Amino acid sequence: MTIGILGGGQLGYMLALAGYPLGLHFRFLDPSPEAPVGRIAQRVTAEYTDQAALEKFASGLELVTYEFENVPVEAANFLAERVPVYPPPAALEAAQDRLNEKHLFQKLSIATTEFAPVLKPNDLDQAVKHIGLPAVLKTCRMGYDGKGQWILRTAEDVAKAKSELPAAPLILERLVSFARELSVLAVRSRTGEIAFYPLVENHHRGGILRLSLAPAPRLEPPIQRAAEDAARRILESLKYVGVLAIEFFESGGRLLANEMAPRVHNSGHWTIEGAVTSQFENHLRAVLGLPLGSTGPAGYCAMLNLIGNVPDSAEVLAVPDTHLHLYGKSPRPGRKLGHVTLRAASPERLALRLSELPAFFHHPDFCLDAALAPSTPLRA
Ligand code: AMP
Repeated sequence: MTIGILGGGQLGYMLALAGYPLGLHFRFLDPSPEAPVGRIAQRVTAEYTDQAALEKFASGLELVTYEFENVPVEAANFLAERVPVYPPPAALEAAQDRLNEKHLFQKLSIATTEFAPVLKPNDLDQAVKHIGLPAVLKTCRMGYDGKGQWILRTAEDVAKAKSELPAAPLILERLVSFARELSVLAVRSRTGEIAFYPLVENHHRGGILRLSLAPAPRLEPPIQRAAEDAARRILESLKYVGVLAIEFFESGGRLLANEMAPRVHNSGHWTIEGAVTSQFENHLRAVLGLPLGSTGPAGYCAMLNLIGNVPDSAEVLAVPDTHLHLYGKSPRPGRKLGHVTLRAASPERLALRLSELPAFFHHPDFCLDAALAPSTPLRA
Protein backbone atom coordinates (compact mmCIF):
# COMPACT_ATOMS: atom_id res chain seq x y z
CA MET A 1 0.00 0.00 0.00
CA THR A 2 1.51 3.32 -1.07
CA ILE A 3 0.73 6.65 0.59
CA GLY A 4 1.35 9.88 -1.33
CA ILE A 5 2.78 12.83 0.58
CA LEU A 6 2.87 16.40 -0.72
CA GLY A 7 6.09 18.01 0.51
CA GLY A 8 9.37 16.21 0.99
CA GLY A 9 10.96 17.87 4.02
CA GLN A 10 11.80 16.47 7.43
CA LEU A 11 8.15 16.06 8.44
CA GLY A 12 7.57 13.78 5.45
CA TYR A 13 10.83 12.00 6.21
CA MET A 14 9.69 11.20 9.74
CA LEU A 15 6.20 10.18 8.52
CA ALA A 16 7.81 7.61 6.22
CA LEU A 17 10.09 6.33 9.00
CA ALA A 18 7.00 5.82 11.19
CA GLY A 19 5.11 4.11 8.36
CA TYR A 20 7.64 1.46 7.37
CA PRO A 21 6.95 -0.76 10.43
CA LEU A 22 3.25 -0.69 9.41
CA GLY A 23 4.21 -2.13 6.01
CA LEU A 24 3.52 1.11 4.15
CA HIS A 25 5.31 2.51 1.11
CA PHE A 26 5.60 6.20 0.28
CA ARG A 27 5.75 8.46 -2.76
CA PHE A 28 6.55 12.16 -2.33
CA LEU A 29 5.97 15.18 -4.52
CA ASP A 30 8.19 18.21 -3.93
CA PRO A 31 9.46 20.95 -6.27
CA SER A 32 12.96 20.78 -4.79
CA PRO A 33 15.43 18.16 -6.02
CA GLU A 34 17.15 18.62 -2.63
CA ALA A 35 14.13 17.36 -0.62
CA PRO A 36 15.59 14.98 2.00
CA VAL A 37 13.01 12.21 1.43
CA GLY A 38 14.76 11.35 -1.84
CA ARG A 39 17.10 9.20 0.27
CA ILE A 40 14.38 6.92 1.60
CA ALA A 41 11.35 6.90 -0.74
CA GLN A 42 10.11 7.45 -4.31
CA ARG A 43 10.15 11.14 -5.15
CA VAL A 44 8.45 13.05 -7.95
CA THR A 45 10.22 16.37 -8.47
CA ALA A 46 7.67 18.81 -9.88
CA GLU A 47 5.76 22.00 -9.09
CA TYR A 48 2.49 21.56 -7.20
CA THR A 49 0.74 23.31 -10.10
CA ASP A 50 1.96 20.76 -12.70
CA GLN A 51 -1.23 18.76 -13.38
CA ALA A 52 0.50 16.14 -15.52
CA ALA A 53 2.94 15.49 -12.66
CA LEU A 54 0.08 15.39 -10.12
CA GLU A 55 -1.71 12.84 -12.33
CA LYS A 56 1.42 10.67 -12.47
CA PHE A 57 2.02 11.10 -8.74
CA ALA A 58 -1.55 10.01 -7.85
CA SER A 59 -1.52 6.88 -9.99
CA GLY A 60 -1.93 3.77 -7.81
CA LEU A 61 -1.86 5.63 -4.47
CA GLU A 62 -4.06 4.56 -1.54
CA LEU A 63 -4.47 8.15 -0.42
CA VAL A 64 -2.67 11.48 -0.32
CA THR A 65 -1.68 13.53 2.72
CA TYR A 66 0.68 16.49 3.17
CA GLU A 67 3.49 17.61 5.38
CA PHE A 68 3.54 21.19 4.07
CA GLU A 69 0.55 23.50 4.58
CA ASN A 70 1.25 25.86 1.72
CA VAL A 71 0.43 23.28 -0.94
CA PRO A 72 -1.91 25.14 -3.34
CA VAL A 73 -5.53 24.26 -2.49
CA GLU A 74 -6.16 23.73 -6.25
CA ALA A 75 -3.53 20.93 -6.25
CA ALA A 76 -5.20 19.27 -3.24
CA ASN A 77 -8.62 19.55 -4.91
CA PHE A 78 -7.26 18.18 -8.22
CA LEU A 79 -5.87 15.16 -6.37
CA ALA A 80 -9.06 14.75 -4.29
CA GLU A 81 -10.94 14.02 -7.54
CA ARG A 82 -8.64 11.02 -8.03
CA VAL A 83 -7.73 9.67 -4.55
CA PRO A 84 -8.83 10.42 -0.96
CA VAL A 85 -6.93 13.45 0.40
CA TYR A 86 -6.52 13.91 4.18
CA PRO A 87 -6.67 16.30 5.99
CA PRO A 88 -9.53 17.73 3.87
CA PRO A 89 -8.45 20.54 1.51
CA ALA A 90 -10.82 22.86 3.47
CA ALA A 91 -8.37 22.63 6.40
CA LEU A 92 -5.57 23.84 4.11
CA GLU A 93 -7.73 26.73 3.00
CA ALA A 94 -8.42 27.76 6.62
CA ALA A 95 -4.81 27.46 7.76
CA GLN A 96 -3.07 29.10 4.78
CA ASP A 97 -4.51 32.52 5.44
CA ARG A 98 -4.19 34.11 8.88
CA LEU A 99 -7.46 36.02 8.46
CA ASN A 100 -9.41 32.87 7.52
CA GLU A 101 -7.81 31.12 10.47
CA LYS A 102 -8.77 33.87 12.93
CA HIS A 103 -12.32 33.97 11.54
CA LEU A 104 -12.60 30.21 12.03
CA PHE A 105 -11.43 30.59 15.66
CA GLN A 106 -14.02 33.34 16.19
CA LYS A 107 -16.80 31.32 14.56
CA LEU A 108 -16.03 28.40 16.89
CA SER A 109 -15.82 30.70 19.98
CA ILE A 110 -12.10 29.97 20.44
CA ALA A 111 -10.42 32.94 22.17
CA THR A 112 -7.76 34.52 19.96
CA THR A 113 -5.62 37.66 19.83
CA GLU A 114 -7.48 40.84 18.85
CA PHE A 115 -6.93 41.50 15.16
CA ALA A 116 -7.86 43.74 12.25
CA PRO A 117 -7.39 43.19 8.51
CA VAL A 118 -4.99 45.46 6.58
CA LEU A 119 -5.91 44.70 3.00
CA LYS A 120 -4.21 47.84 1.61
CA PRO A 121 -1.60 50.21 3.12
CA ASN A 122 -4.25 52.87 3.82
CA ASP A 123 -6.08 50.45 6.16
CA LEU A 124 -3.14 50.46 8.57
CA ASP A 125 -4.01 53.69 10.44
CA GLN A 126 -7.57 52.53 11.04
CA ALA A 127 -6.35 49.11 12.18
CA VAL A 128 -3.84 50.69 14.60
CA LYS A 129 -6.63 52.90 15.99
CA HIS A 130 -8.74 49.80 16.55
CA ILE A 131 -6.04 47.46 17.98
CA GLY A 132 -3.69 49.97 19.65
CA LEU A 133 0.09 49.67 20.08
CA PRO A 134 2.19 47.62 20.53
CA ALA A 135 0.98 45.42 17.72
CA VAL A 136 2.36 42.94 15.23
CA LEU A 137 1.70 43.19 11.53
CA LYS A 138 1.84 39.91 9.61
CA THR A 139 1.35 38.86 6.01
CA CYS A 140 -1.83 36.78 5.76
CA ARG A 141 -0.20 34.13 3.60
CA MET A 142 3.14 32.29 3.36
CA GLY A 143 4.52 33.64 6.64
CA TYR A 144 6.26 31.08 8.85
CA ASP A 145 8.94 30.99 11.53
CA GLY A 146 8.43 34.72 12.14
CA LYS A 147 8.99 35.65 8.47
CA GLY A 148 6.78 38.42 7.04
CA GLN A 149 6.23 40.10 10.44
CA TRP A 150 6.79 43.62 11.76
CA ILE A 151 6.46 44.68 15.39
CA LEU A 152 4.97 48.16 15.74
CA ARG A 153 5.57 49.95 19.04
CA THR A 154 5.52 53.65 18.08
CA ALA A 155 3.89 56.01 15.56
CA GLU A 156 7.28 56.08 13.76
CA ASP A 157 7.18 52.27 13.39
CA VAL A 158 3.72 52.62 11.85
CA ALA A 159 4.86 55.30 9.39
CA LYS A 160 7.93 53.24 8.45
CA ALA A 161 5.87 50.06 7.99
CA LYS A 162 3.44 51.96 5.76
CA SER A 163 6.21 52.98 3.41
CA GLU A 164 7.58 49.40 3.25
CA LEU A 165 4.41 47.31 3.17
CA PRO A 166 4.28 44.56 0.57
CA ALA A 167 1.32 44.69 -1.84
CA ALA A 168 -0.31 41.73 -0.11
CA PRO A 169 -3.13 41.29 2.42
CA LEU A 170 -1.93 41.72 6.02
CA ILE A 171 -3.34 41.30 9.50
CA LEU A 172 -2.62 43.50 12.50
CA GLU A 173 -2.68 41.73 15.86
CA ARG A 174 -2.37 43.08 19.37
CA LEU A 175 1.05 42.15 20.76
CA VAL A 176 0.03 39.80 23.56
CA SER A 177 1.81 39.87 26.88
CA PHE A 178 2.03 36.15 27.52
CA ALA A 179 3.35 33.94 30.32
CA ARG A 180 4.38 31.30 27.82
CA GLU A 181 3.64 29.68 24.45
CA LEU A 182 1.94 26.30 24.41
CA SER A 183 0.83 23.99 21.63
CA VAL A 184 -1.51 21.06 21.47
CA LEU A 185 -1.46 18.21 19.01
CA ALA A 186 -4.79 16.57 18.32
CA VAL A 187 -5.59 13.71 16.01
CA ARG A 188 -8.86 12.57 14.43
CA SER A 189 -9.22 9.34 12.52
CA ARG A 190 -11.37 8.65 9.46
CA THR A 191 -13.57 6.71 11.90
CA GLY A 192 -14.18 9.87 14.00
CA GLU A 193 -11.98 8.68 16.90
CA ILE A 194 -10.15 11.62 18.54
CA ALA A 195 -7.08 11.79 20.81
CA PHE A 196 -4.96 14.61 22.26
CA TYR A 197 -1.35 14.81 23.33
CA PRO A 198 -0.48 16.78 26.48
CA LEU A 199 0.25 20.48 25.94
CA VAL A 200 3.86 21.35 25.17
CA GLU A 201 5.73 24.52 26.25
CA ASN A 202 7.59 26.15 23.35
CA HIS A 203 10.47 28.63 23.32
CA HIS A 204 11.37 30.61 20.18
CA ARG A 205 14.33 32.75 19.13
CA GLY A 206 13.91 35.07 16.17
CA GLY A 207 10.45 33.56 15.51
CA ILE A 208 11.87 30.00 15.15
CA LEU A 209 11.07 27.18 17.57
CA ARG A 210 14.20 26.25 19.52
CA LEU A 211 13.03 24.25 22.52
CA SER A 212 9.89 22.28 23.44
CA LEU A 213 9.26 20.90 26.92
CA ALA A 214 6.77 18.05 27.07
CA PRO A 215 4.49 17.71 28.87
CA ALA A 216 4.47 21.47 29.57
CA PRO A 217 5.78 22.08 33.11
CA ARG A 218 3.19 23.12 35.72
CA LEU A 219 0.36 22.09 33.43
CA GLU A 220 -3.02 22.81 35.07
CA PRO A 221 -5.85 20.43 34.07
CA PRO A 222 -8.23 23.32 33.12
CA ILE A 223 -5.65 24.63 30.63
CA GLN A 224 -5.26 21.18 29.05
CA ARG A 225 -9.07 20.87 28.90
CA ALA A 226 -9.37 24.30 27.25
CA ALA A 227 -6.82 23.31 24.59
CA GLU A 228 -8.60 20.02 23.92
CA ASP A 229 -11.96 21.75 23.74
CA ALA A 230 -10.65 24.23 21.13
CA ALA A 231 -9.00 21.44 19.12
CA ARG A 232 -12.12 19.29 19.21
CA ARG A 233 -14.25 22.12 17.82
CA ILE A 234 -11.87 22.58 14.89
CA LEU A 235 -11.55 18.83 14.20
CA GLU A 236 -15.30 18.35 14.20
CA SER A 237 -16.24 21.48 12.27
CA LEU A 238 -13.78 20.65 9.44
CA LYS A 239 -14.46 16.86 9.60
CA TYR A 240 -10.71 16.80 9.95
CA VAL A 241 -8.64 13.64 9.49
CA GLY A 242 -5.00 13.45 10.66
CA VAL A 243 -2.86 15.37 13.14
CA LEU A 244 -3.67 19.04 13.78
CA ALA A 245 -1.43 21.40 15.77
CA ILE A 246 -2.70 24.56 17.47
CA GLU A 247 -0.35 27.15 18.97
CA PHE A 248 -1.55 29.22 21.92
CA PHE A 249 -0.38 32.04 24.13
CA GLU A 250 -1.06 31.46 27.83
CA SER A 251 -1.98 34.87 29.13
CA GLY A 252 -3.77 35.79 32.36
CA GLY A 253 -4.51 32.12 33.10
CA ARG A 254 -6.25 31.53 29.77
CA LEU A 255 -5.35 30.38 26.29
CA LEU A 256 -5.43 32.58 23.20
CA ALA A 257 -5.14 30.69 19.90
CA ASN A 258 -2.39 32.11 17.68
CA GLU A 259 -2.37 29.76 14.71
CA MET A 260 -2.92 26.20 13.58
CA ALA A 261 -1.10 23.81 11.27
CA PRO A 262 -3.01 21.05 9.44
CA ARG A 263 -0.16 18.56 9.68
CA VAL A 264 2.34 16.95 11.99
CA HIS A 265 4.29 19.66 13.81
CA ASN A 266 7.78 20.50 15.05
CA SER A 267 6.47 20.82 18.62
CA GLY A 268 5.42 17.15 18.39
CA HIS A 269 8.84 15.67 17.58
CA TRP A 270 9.27 14.68 21.24
CA THR A 271 6.50 12.08 20.73
CA ILE A 272 8.91 9.82 18.77
CA GLU A 273 10.65 8.79 21.99
CA GLY A 274 8.47 10.53 24.57
CA ALA A 275 4.94 9.26 23.90
CA VAL A 276 3.50 5.77 23.63
CA THR A 277 2.63 6.47 19.96
CA SER A 278 4.38 9.18 17.93
CA GLN A 279 2.51 11.97 16.15
CA PHE A 280 3.80 10.52 12.86
CA GLU A 281 2.41 7.03 13.48
CA ASN A 282 -0.89 8.43 14.74
CA HIS A 283 -1.22 10.64 11.65
CA LEU A 284 -0.83 7.54 9.45
CA ARG A 285 -3.23 5.51 11.60
CA ALA A 286 -5.77 8.36 11.34
CA VAL A 287 -5.64 8.75 7.56
CA LEU A 288 -5.86 4.97 7.10
CA GLY A 289 -8.81 4.65 9.53
CA LEU A 290 -6.79 2.38 11.86
CA PRO A 291 -7.32 2.55 15.64
CA LEU A 292 -5.32 5.43 17.16
CA GLY A 293 -2.44 4.65 19.51
CA SER A 294 -2.11 5.99 23.05
CA THR A 295 -0.98 9.62 23.19
CA GLY A 296 0.21 9.24 26.80
CA PRO A 297 3.68 10.58 27.66
CA ALA A 298 6.42 8.07 28.51
CA GLY A 299 8.43 10.44 30.71
CA TYR A 300 9.56 14.08 30.62
CA CYS A 301 11.07 15.39 27.40
CA ALA A 302 13.02 18.31 26.03
CA MET A 303 13.30 18.67 22.24
CA LEU A 304 16.00 21.00 20.90
CA ASN A 305 16.02 22.07 17.26
CA LEU A 306 19.36 22.07 15.42
CA ILE A 307 19.28 25.17 13.24
CA GLY A 308 21.97 26.21 10.78
CA ASN A 309 24.63 23.79 12.09
CA VAL A 310 24.84 20.48 13.90
CA PRO A 311 26.90 19.30 16.88
CA ASP A 312 29.28 16.37 16.95
CA SER A 313 27.11 13.24 17.04
CA ALA A 314 29.37 11.35 19.46
CA GLU A 315 29.34 14.22 21.97
CA VAL A 316 25.54 14.39 21.91
CA LEU A 317 25.02 10.66 22.21
CA ALA A 318 27.49 10.44 25.11
CA VAL A 319 24.77 12.09 27.26
CA PRO A 320 22.47 9.32 28.56
CA ASP A 321 18.76 9.45 27.58
CA THR A 322 19.55 11.49 24.45
CA HIS A 323 18.32 10.81 20.91
CA LEU A 324 19.69 12.50 17.80
CA HIS A 325 17.76 13.02 14.54
CA LEU A 326 19.55 14.42 11.49
CA TYR A 327 17.43 15.14 8.41
CA GLY A 328 20.16 14.85 5.76
CA LYS A 329 19.86 18.49 4.62
CA SER A 330 22.84 20.61 3.65
CA PRO A 331 23.63 23.29 6.26
CA ARG A 332 22.34 26.82 5.63
CA PRO A 333 21.72 29.64 8.17
CA GLY A 334 18.23 29.42 9.67
CA ARG A 335 17.61 25.93 8.25
CA LYS A 336 16.22 23.15 10.48
CA LEU A 337 18.81 20.38 10.09
CA GLY A 338 17.81 18.04 12.87
CA HIS A 339 16.70 17.80 16.47
CA VAL A 340 17.71 16.23 19.74
CA THR A 341 15.25 14.76 22.24
CA LEU A 342 16.13 14.03 25.85
CA ARG A 343 13.73 11.83 27.80
CA ALA A 344 13.95 11.24 31.53
CA ALA A 345 11.87 9.69 34.31
CA SER A 346 11.51 12.96 36.27
CA PRO A 347 11.84 16.72 35.62
CA GLU A 348 14.89 16.76 37.94
CA ARG A 349 16.60 14.02 35.94
CA LEU A 350 15.75 15.85 32.71
CA ALA A 351 17.35 19.06 34.05
CA LEU A 352 20.46 17.09 34.98
CA ARG A 353 20.73 15.61 31.50
CA LEU A 354 20.25 19.02 29.87
CA SER A 355 23.07 20.45 31.99
CA GLU A 356 25.31 17.60 30.75
CA LEU A 357 24.86 18.51 27.07
CA PRO A 358 28.05 19.57 25.27
CA ALA A 359 29.10 23.25 25.04
CA PHE A 360 27.42 23.53 21.60
CA PHE A 361 24.02 23.66 23.40
CA HIS A 362 25.01 26.26 25.98
CA HIS A 363 24.40 29.09 23.52
CA PRO A 364 21.44 31.31 24.57
CA ASP A 365 19.60 30.35 21.35
CA PHE A 366 18.86 26.91 22.80
CA CYS A 367 16.83 28.55 25.63
CA LEU A 368 18.22 26.03 28.14
CA ASP A 369 17.74 28.59 30.94
CA ALA A 370 14.00 28.28 30.37
CA ALA A 371 14.21 24.52 30.74
CA LEU A 372 16.32 24.70 33.88
CA ALA A 373 14.53 27.64 35.57
CA PRO A 374 11.94 26.82 38.23
CA SER A 375 9.40 29.20 36.65
CA THR A 376 8.98 30.93 33.32
CA PRO A 377 9.08 34.75 33.54
CA LEU A 378 6.23 36.84 32.16
CA ARG A 379 7.11 38.50 28.87
CA ALA A 380 5.64 41.70 27.47
P1 AMP B 1 3.69 33.11 14.24
O1 AMP B 1 4.31 33.08 12.88
O2 AMP B 1 2.32 33.71 14.28
O3 AMP B 1 3.74 31.76 14.94
O4 AMP B 1 4.64 34.06 15.13
C1 AMP B 1 5.97 33.69 15.46
C2 AMP B 1 6.26 34.07 16.91
O5 AMP B 1 6.10 35.50 17.08
C3 AMP B 1 5.28 33.47 17.93
O6 AMP B 1 5.66 32.16 18.28
C4 AMP B 1 5.38 34.46 19.06
O7 AMP B 1 6.56 34.25 19.81
C5 AMP B 1 5.50 35.79 18.35
N1 AMP B 1 4.15 36.39 18.14
C6 AMP B 1 3.38 36.22 17.06
N2 AMP B 1 2.20 36.89 17.18
C7 AMP B 1 2.23 37.50 18.38
C8 AMP B 1 1.31 38.32 19.09
N3 AMP B 1 0.12 38.68 18.59
N4 AMP B 1 1.68 38.76 20.33
C9 AMP B 1 2.89 38.41 20.87
N5 AMP B 1 3.80 37.65 20.23
C10 AMP B 1 3.49 37.17 19.01
